Amino acid sequence: MIIDGRAIAKQIKERIREEKVGTPTVVAVILGENPASESYLRMLEKTCESTGFGYRRVDLDSETTEETLIKEIQALNASASVDGILIQMPLPKHIDEKKVLMAVDPMKDVDGFNPINAGRLFKGEKAIPPCTPLAVMTILEASGIDVAGKHVVIIGRSNIVGKPLAIMMLQKNATVTICHSKTVDLKRHTLSADIVVAAVGVPEFLKADMICEGAVVIDVGTNEVDGKLVGDVDFAAVSEKASAITPVPGGVGPVTNAVLLRNVLTRQREG
Ligand code: NAP
Repeated sequence: MIIDGRAIAKQIKERIREEKVGTPTVVAVILGENPASESYLRMLEKTCESTGFGYRRVDLDSETTEETLIKEIQALNASASVDGILIQMPLPKHIDEKKVLMAVDPMKDVDGFNPINAGRLFKGEKAIPPCTPLAVMTILEASGIDVAGKHVVIIGRSNIVGKPLAIMMLQKNATVTICHSKTVDLKRHTLSADIVVAAVGVPEFLKADMICEGAVVIDVGTNEVDGKLVGDVDFAAVSEKASAITPVPGGVGPVTNAVLLRNVLTRQREG
């Protein structure tokens, strides 16, 4: 089965359109120019348009001081017409990312990057979860793949993908192994997995001989190779062996955007 992320995203967006009250508005804050951010934000803007959400950008100069950025965030926190705030990463080197993420109101932190949301997620309390791991969980659920009791191997331990995903998998009763660049004999782990999630950032990193027959493979990777989007999985070979797999493009990416808007609605409802 090739999992159709676009179809899953479409269903989520249809539900969001029906459930939303008024025009929930998302504001993206971006410092300087970054081509990767531009394509992501264009996609988000389109998703907002098609679901009846408001979308606004706050473009700041790359030389903007930390103080000015935090003041801008505080103004968005205080604005009743702003429902979700996204701070586009990476931030310029002179800015302390931790301070900036702390400044975002946890209730408007639709990316789930504020340490309060991360802590709540860790403790199993109500939290706004980060969108990419949430997209992975949503895809598995929508595809009828129950993770309970399964051995899930996640390659990658970043704060935005690998670590929160491991917590979310644990909460759904999976047995989780997190691998990273210092893991010895990675293949030994991936070969024992029922589900492998690749969040490495290396094009076509996961090869067919690294998974067992019938494993489920979720590709989080978004690498640009010769102007084309390539995942972290060698799709052609791995799809021959996997029982279900997400493609790139058309897998995790579109669902990430849709669940971001769902996070806005959740916070609106609970606000
Ligand atoms: P990241 O912060 O660079 O983390 C990469 C992880 O992979 C690290 O934990 C690293 O280990 C591990 N790694 C690197 N080389 C490895 C190797 N040879 N063997 C085993 N592990 C290795 O990346 P990220 O932000 O988590 O993103 C991962 C991928 O997902 C990227 O392609 C990114 O573009 C994509 N992404 C997609 C979405 C989406 O919505 N689809 C969203 C976010 C990210 P160490 O910790 O030891 O360095």
